[in-house]
Amino acid sequence: MTVVTRFAPSPTGFLHIGGGRTALFNWLYAKRHGGKMLLRIEDTDRERSTDAAIAAILDGLQWLGLDWDGDVVYQFSRAGRHREVAESLLAQGRAYRCYASQQELEEMRETARKEGRPLRYDGRWRDRDPAEAPAGVKPVIRLKAPTEGETVVEDEVQGRVVWQNKDLDDLVLLRSDGTPTYMLAVVVDDHDMNVTHVIRGDDHLTNAARQTQIYQALGWDVPKMAHIPLIHGPDGAKLSKRHGALGVEAYRSLGYLPEALRNYLVRLGWSHGDQEIFSTQEMIDAFDLGSIGRSPARFDFAKLENLNGHYMRQADDERLVQALEDLLPELDKDEHHLGRTFRPGLREKLIAAMPGLKERAKTLVELLDSAYYLYAQRPLHLDEKAASLLADGVTRLAGIADKLDAVTDWSARSVEAVVREHAEAIGAKLGQVAQPLRAALTGRATSPGLFDVMAVLGKDETMLRLRDQIKDAPAA
Ligand code: GLU
Repeated sequence: MTVVTRFAPSPTGFLHIGGGRTALFNWLYAKRHGGKMLLRIEDTDRERSTDAAIAAILDGLQWLGLDWDGDVVYQFSRAGRHREVAESLLAQGRAYRCYASQQELEEMRETARKEGRPLRYDGRWRDRDPAEAPAGVKPVIRLKAPTEGETVVEDEVQGRVVWQNKDLDDLVLLRSDGTPTYMLAVVVDDHDMNVTHVIRGDDHLTNAARQTQIYQALGWDVPKMAHIPLIHGPDGAKLSKRHGALGVEAYRSLGYLPEALRNYLVRLGWSHGDQEIFSTQEMIDAFDLGSIGRSPARFDFAKLENLNGHYMRQADDERLVQALEDLLPELDKDEHHLGRTFRPGLREKLIAAMPGLKERAKTLVELLDSAYYLYAQRPLHLDEKAASLLADGVTRLAGIADKLDAVTDWSARSVEAVVREHAEAIGAKLGQVAQPLRAALTGRATSPGLFDVMAVLGKDETMLRLRDQIKDAPAA
């Protein structure tokens, strides 16, 4: 049997983090077993489905590196087939037309409310002669669900879950306007798409029971099911925006690398011993449904940041610079006037400086910020700490500009020698010279190694920045 999984998002909003994880689990399971992952856009809710959401979902999956097999299936386009299946159930006596009016349903709801139980359609048209149908009322088609016994879902994550059939009413398959319900559409599509494993959030667990009844009525095999506990916030409450329930594209704008988010997501609810870091191949090799936990995973931004830092340090420098450039159009505000692409020459400088820069940053946004000194425009704006460092130490820089100007073979090593000699000559510690110098050259109190900074900036830019800041400095 070839494993076929599917990711079946409703395009009513962006690809949120929980959807990203569901997609990843489906993708991994398919890859693990040499199978396929299909993508089905469940766009039957015409009011709430939008093209923008479809685009965001496809884009989010692509960015996460999760590809699917074959063409995207759009559920709405299959409405004719859904109708046909509902009618076949009708013909076999496994479904029936129900003419209950809105008012009758309202009364049932009211009674249920009074009795403190959920609405349960009472089956009033189940065995009634259709000849009694009121004129001019368009019926819905309901499943003739079993009234006795149990419906069982042998879930790969939740274990055996049992429903008493008397608690499940005759669900609607086809609405009075002829459109299929979600419950019917999912079953027909999963069957027609030969889906062998349904892996999705456990908010669909009750649906699994109802869908099982539809499968049974149709005489179709029920796919294997795995219902994954939802993601909660660090405080244990259901995940909200405040906790990080953002769209996948928001993580991109916040400066996370897709491989870091993938690694983070795989560990949200699934574990493999105490391993935290997984390459994509390692995830594929180790992934299974049995190791998905039964309790909700907790979202933890600090962990995501640490993983991101790890993957940034590992990443190829050119790729990181490209990722920074790709991020430019997404930045909230362009306070550094970077524009949408790097100006000529900056890319090379960033690549040269990257080994030092990437050691500290946790996100691409931080990385870009820490590279401020490379793209800062003269005269540099010094932040508060830098301004005070320079004010304290500017006298110790007197005369250093001329000494640096005399360097002919500009390199980290040659400028280091000059700065050290200068410090010695004025009887200061290296740091007492290096700190104000750093402030003048980078506008910040911290930066990668000062001499590397000077080497990457080059002699001309270093000298210009230095003279901008110390032109009026009195001699020490
Ligand atoms: N379209 C449903 C959702 O977005 C998922 C349905 C399913 O996986 O069966 O929640």
